[in-house]
Amino acid sequence: MTFGAARLRAIAAEGAATLVDPPAVEVLRWAVGSGLRLAVAGSMQDAVLVHLASRALPGVDVLFLDTGYHFAETLQTRDRVAASYRVHLRTITARQSVVEQDADHGVALHERDPDLCCALRKTQPLDNALDEYDAWATGLRRVESESRSNTAVVSFDERRDKIKLAPLAAWTDEDVAAYIEKYQVITNPLLAQGYPSIGCGPCTRRVAAGSDDRSGRWAGTDKTECGIHL
Ligand code: SF4
Repeated sequence: MTFGAARLRAIAAEGAATLVDPPAVEVLRWAVGSGLRLAVAGSMQDAVLVHLASRALPGVDVLFLDTGYHFAETLQTRDRVAASYRVHLRTITARQSVVEQDADHGVALHERDPDLCCALRKTQPLDNALDEYDAWATGLRRVESESRSNTAVVSFDERRDKIKLAPLAAWTDEDVAAYIEKYQVITNPLLAQGYPSIGCGPCTRRVAAGSDDRSGRWAGTDKTECGIHL
């Protein structure tokens, strides 16, 4: 079944009213039980949300945005997840390769205009990929940053006309660590090497112990988000 934006907005409102910080698996099951075509976004920082999805909805589509700038460890994590968990992992790429983008916009666009680079390599590819879904789930958590502190478990993504789920919204860092320990969840090895928040290689730095987890992202600029969640 295909839902229009008005119906999806109404379903999101119903979900937001009934799902108040429920178990994460229940959020995912609610979406599919509501007849929604669901995709799960996986950044491959850790595979907590993907593992949860594999338990709740075996075979669910997981979208990984391959920007062409990822650390080798992130791609290896993606490959381990695809081989280990019962999900359908889809690698989403930008319309242009990095070489083609360099030819059109000049090399290292991320240094001169990271917003445009993120739009071309993350936001637009995700928008295109989500065309065939009604809802998408992300691993956003309220404790990650000030800008994420009001993250709703269920909301209507006005920019995309999709339902947006954040099943882990209420999870603390300790909750995540406990889940990883309990299920021996696959994690990106860079987490143990001083990278508590992992994005593209050129835009991610090591973070000193005690510093804000996301301070290594676009360090030295006022950019804090890639645009996917704005
Ligand atoms: S994080 Fe950096 S390299 Fe990756 S898409 Fe954004 S600007 Fe480009």
